[in-house]
This record gives sequence, C-alpha cells and structure tokens, in this order.
Amino acid sequence: MTTNRDLVARTLRSVWHPCTQMKLHERMPMVAVSHGDGAWLYDFEDRRYLDAISSWWVNLFGHANPRINAAIVAQLGRLEHVILAGFTHEPAVVLSERLSALTGGRLGHCFFASDGSSAVEIALKMSHHFWRNRGRPDKSRFAYLTGAYHGETTGALSVGDVALFRDAYAPLLRAGIAVPSPDWRHAESGESAPQYARRCAIALEQTLREWHREIAALIVEPLVQCASGMGMYDPEYLRLARAICDKYNVHLIADEIAVGCGRTGTFLACEQAGILPDLLCLSKGISAGYLPLSVVLSTHAIYEAFYDDEVSRGFLHSHSYSGNPLACAAALATLSIFEEDSVIESNRQRAARIDELARPIAAHPRVRNFRRSGMIWAFEVDGAQPLFARRFSAAALERELLLRPIGETVYFMPPYVIDDEQAALLTGRTVELLDRVP
Ligand SMILES: *Cc1c(COP(=O)(O)O)cnc(C)c1O
Repeated sequence: MTTNRDLVARTLRSVWHPCTQMKLHERMPMVAVSHGDGAWLYDFEDRRYLDAISSWWVNLFGHANPRINAAIVAQLGRLEHVILAGFTHEPAVVLSERLSALTGGRLGHCFFASDGSSAVEIALKMSHHFWRNRGRPDKSRFAYLTGAYHGETTGALSVGDVALFRDAYAPLLRAGIAVPSPDWRHAESGESAPQYARRCAIALEQTLREWHREIAALIVEPLVQCASGMGMYDPEYLRLARAICDKYNVHLIADEIAVGCGRTGTFLACEQAGILPDLLCLSKGISAGYLPLSVVLSTHAIYEAFYDDEVSRGFLHSHSYSGNPLACAAALATLSIFEEDSVIESNRQRAARIDELARPIAAHPRVRNFRRSGMIWAFEVDGAQPLFARRFSAAALERELLLRPIGETVYFMPPYVIDDEQAALLTGRTVELLDRVP
C-alpha cells in the first residue's frame, strides 16, 4: 500500500519538480496527493487540503467533476488523438466555433497548443510573421509591461519581467522594450487607479511613438498581473492601449492564460474594457484543470495575411498534440458548465459572500492593499520576515489550506465550486495565520 512517507521519499529520488529548489525539501514538507474531490485534495492518510489556489490556477469546477469526467470518458471511447494537419475532428471544430462566438466572431481563427508558454510563443511568432508577410520584416521586437509574466520558454521569458525566473537565462533572451505597468500599487499617494492607468498609457504612447517601426506587438496580462503578486489595474489602461496600438500599427496580444475563463468576473478580462486584442491566448482554466490545452485566437486580418499560394507564407508552427480531442472535450464540457450554470452570474454572488467573510482579513492590522478582481483576492502582509511565503505556506498546510504566497503577497484563487463553509474555513484560518506567522 502506498503511504505519504514512501511516495515522498521516492519522488525526491526520481522527480525533478517544477518551480522548486529541490534541496529545500530536506526541511520542507512535500504533500503526496492520493485523490481529489471538489475543492478538497486528500493525501494517503486521508488528511485533507482545501485547494485555495485551484491547483496552480487551472482548476475551475473542482477535482473529479462528474460532468467533465463523463465528457472525457465519452471522447476516449471515440478518438483519443489524431494529427491535426490534413485531418480534423469534431471537438476541435466545435471548440473553435464556440470560442470564436465568445468574441462575437471577431477573433475567428483558433490555433491550438498544449501549454500557456507555447501559446505566447505562437502569438509572438504570428505577430512578427504577419508583419513580415505584409512587407514590414523590421517589426520584430515586442513591448511588455514591467512585472509581466508570460511563461518560461525563452521567447516568453523575453517578454517577462520576474527577475527570479529570468535572470539566469538573460544571455539567451532577445531584448524587448518594457513599459510601465499600470498596477495601482505603484500609484503615487492620492492618485486614483484610473489616473495612474492614464499616466502609464501616456508612457506607452511615448514608447510606441519612438519605436513603432520595430515593434510588432504589445503583450499584456489584462487587468491582473498574476505571477508578480496579483497586481491589479484599471480597465482604462486596456482601452487606451488598444487605441494607441491601433494608432501606431502595433498588435495587441492579450495573455488571458490566467485571467480568462471567468477569473476576473467576466469570461474574458478584456470584456471589462470593451476591447478585443488582435491575438488572444487562453490556457489554464480552458480545460478546467483537466488536460494540457492552450489556444491562440486571431483576427481575420491576421489570418488573411498568411493565406497564400506560397507555403512559407503560412504559419507552419507545429505541435504533435495540437488540438488533442480529449483536451478539447474537457474544454467543451467546461464551456457547457459556464452556460448551463450561469457561472459568471453565480460567481458574482459567491464573491460578494466571500468579501463578507474576508472582512476580518481586510481589517487585520498587518494587511495592506486588500483587493479583489472577480474570483481573485490578494493583499500584502506587513512585517513579513525573510522566507515568509515558505513559512506561511507550511503553516497553512497544517491548517488544511493549500496556499502559496508570492513574496509578501497572500492570495486566494479558489475553484468556482468553493461553498460558504469552505470559504469561511479559508478566511477564518487565514486570520489565524496572519496572527501567528512572522
Ligand atoms: C501560467 C501562465 C503562463 C504560462 O502557462 P504554462 O501553461 O505554465 O506554460 C503564461 N502567462 C500567464 C499570464 C500565466 O499565468
């Protein structure tokens, strides 16, 4: 019989874990997960953990969701995978149609990959190749926001600004052009979030005015820069960025890998600004945390620039598992749950109830910048000593909570099935942790 101890000992000998300094596990606990059910994860001794980060921001409707399970099982009996070049299949077609419909048909062409970083690579390559096909090969640089995170492959790191992930690989990266992030934590005192957004947009315009001949696209995480500590900003920035990009012939790429799929309170975060990008990246929640899937949606104008008699003017990026039918089936089941359960609307009520439960957190003397966007709550903790995140996370596990602060920022990103009792447990125990973890 498998035990926690045995499995952890074996994983430390055989698995090289992501985002992890392995030596830390000489002292830090590692959790061996046996199974999941809704918002709970269980280890091999039936100890439970409330998954307050949706298993790395991917799980939307709980673990072992019966409807998604059934959709994958049904697809498994028909077709597990087929090459998507020269062949097609129903799940990819229907998913493309439904995603396109969510943009009113304006982003009408879906290109599939498996992970978020690859979606970002695809969007960057597509943007540059578009300009090349249109006789502007010099447009080969990218603008990105300070504090940005777009993934870990070298192209994605080139438009990222999280030092811990980027610095070691700096010699491998192409220099992009950073513009100030509208994250309102950086606003001057007395300056409102929309005012600060407008000031950052002025800086963006200055940069594009100077560099637009070389810049193919601006890439942004709409509304929330998640990996750099849930930095939230006003939608006004997106409206202005859209207009500035249009003025200077620069594509706008929206990386909605983390913020899409209802996370910020609308299905797409861009909806809150009333804009659409030229290229939109989705992943993480798109398969509700079941199977690796990512997709880049593009405008017809971009698609058209590749449509030609000459093969090399096509977008030849290839990926073995592109449009995997099982992953597409999981995504279709996910979209159906959004529709059938009016998830966007019911999340609004759920979030309002969690706001109530979180009042003691917002009022806690150590808490700064308490904020929320849709189903993301975040705050900074005053008096956080070195290694705060690590100690907070370990103390949370002892109280049945899966939480992973980013530096001194604690955040909740729960699955959309979290109920009132679970939310009360999450908020109540977080207050205890704030009282105790230095
Ligand atoms: C997670 C994330 C990515 C990378 O996705 P992976 O599937 O981990 O490669 C890219 N952009 C944003 C905003 C993300 O949160």
